[in-house]
Amino acid sequence: MVALLWFRQDLRLADNPAFSAAVACGLPLVPVYVLEDEDAGAWAPGGAARWWLHGSLTSLAKSLDHCGSQLVLRKGKAEDMIPALVAETGATSVFWNRRYEPWATARDARIKDALRKSGVEAQSFNASLLCEPWALKTQQGGPYRVFTPFWKALRARTHEPPSRAVPKHLKKPGSFPRSDALESWSLRPKSPDWAGGLRSLWHPGEAGAAARLRAFTGKHLGAYRDARNLPSVDGTSRLSPHLHFGEIGPRQIWHAVQLRAESSGDPVQSGAETYLSEIAWREFSYHLLYHFPHMPETPLREAFAGFPWANDAKKLRAWQRGQTGYPIVDAGMRELWTTGWMHNRVRMVVASFLTKHLRIDWREGEKWFWDTLVDADLANNSASWQWVAGCGADAAPYFRIFNPTLQGEKFDADGDYIRHWVPELAGLPAKLLHAPWTGSTVELALAGVVLGKTYPHPIVDHASARAKALSAYRELKSDD
Ligand code: FAD
Repeated sequence: MVALLWFRQDLRLADNPAFSAAVACGLPLVPVYVLEDEDAGAWAPGGAARWWLHGSLTSLAKSLDHCGSQLVLRKGKAEDMIPALVAETGATSVFWNRRYEPWATARDARIKDALRKSGVEAQSFNASLLCEPWALKTQQGGPYRVFTPFWKALRARTHEPPSRAVPKHLKKPGSFPRSDALESWSLRPKSPDWAGGLRSLWHPGEAGAAARLRAFTGKHLGAYRDARNLPSVDGTSRLSPHLHFGEIGPRQIWHAVQLRAESSGDPVQSGAETYLSEIAWREFSYHLLYHFPHMPETPLREAFAGFPWANDAKKLRAWQRGQTGYPIVDAGMRELWTTGWMHNRVRMVVASFLTKHLRIDWREGEKWFWDTLVDADLANNSASWQWVAGCGADAAPYFRIFNPTLQGEKFDADGDYIRHWVPELAGLPAKLLHAPWTGSTVELALAGVVLGKTYPHPIVDHASARAKALSAYRELKSDD
């Protein structure tokens, strides 16, 4: 008799309730990971996330190896793979941690049902949220659609501390079933190998996540409240991809942050509170995805179903490649392309630019982020895109249109971020850096800038793009 431990988006051993329960059942363990591309369909991991997944699985396999165990890899529909592995190994129990994507919830329920009908025990746990999406309800008994009351309700609860015990030795079966070779999944790009920028920045895996958390709580938490808005400063935790793949869980983060705040008092305290509220935005996104499973594809505000998006392949491409002529937008899009990550402030600016200045459908931006972000996450990505586009629950109003020049001047005042990611503008003085088109030919020439040659002219004029966006919005409102 053996127990199957099915790893999914919980690629860690510490504070992993399914792992702890599987160990506690006392049977030899078969740890397995199934590449679920077929089940996820359009929401199978994009290129950058696949690169991350390779590293994360390598790290998990090593940790299991140190415990005398082995990670079994299989590819295909989980609804076929899990019962097949149960049959091959003679497993009597299967343990896993829950996922909340619509494609996963219905499928997992079917798998659990089928296993139980065939006499196999199936148990699922919560490893990735502080609070199950169905556990928090408004006074009327429905789901939250507004963040602040959700945050208050989440903050008022006690969140159990993470479990610390990680066994050093795992019971293994007489033999392990066949495993695919990780390389055969081709998760990493070969030709061309575009992942150099990702390799130099990230360390996928549980140890990398723990190191990030330590560095953040130790050095950056105190200044987080203000520094989190400055893209040139290393002021945020960069835990998003680690959280997405479950190399660390929110309970571990919540308690580490609280511990640090308690031990040091202000100013860490205010940074800690702001940081915990960001973790709560993640919880809120999962709450929304669970209750509104159409969120990745359909505007939550129904009136937006008929919004006159002005889709334009050429402009979309300019946005994707960081060639819009607006330096802060281009800097963000190039940071994304090179590192698989973009600063939150700049994510808001580029998303606003796409949906309001270019009036391109938010789903185009959502898809691009899905393919290029190492932290691409169905709940966070779709909730955030809807929020910026103005069509989501508790969204930024559509008529609030970021001025990319002012955003650059405010949050990248010295221009360090732009100079780094748009080096062809590096020679410009700060006053021109955020709006190079306002420079005279001589000023630009002195910095080696020739608009239309070394750097593009703005692809739209801010004032007229803003006016067009507002008029499209007014049309929508009159249809409402
Ligand atoms: P920190 O500031 O250190 O925050 C800590 C954690 O809180 C993050 O790791 C993240 O898990 C969570 N968090 C922070 N801000 C948000 C937020 N606004 N919404 C939800 N959770 C948040 N985040 C993703 O994880 N995956 C995505 O696919 C994603 N797509 C986005 C798309 C757009 C258009 C926008 C505006 C934001 C998106 N975000 C997404 C949210 C946010 O930008 C990132 O979580 C954050 O920048 C990650 O960096 P960090 O870990 O240093 O954040």
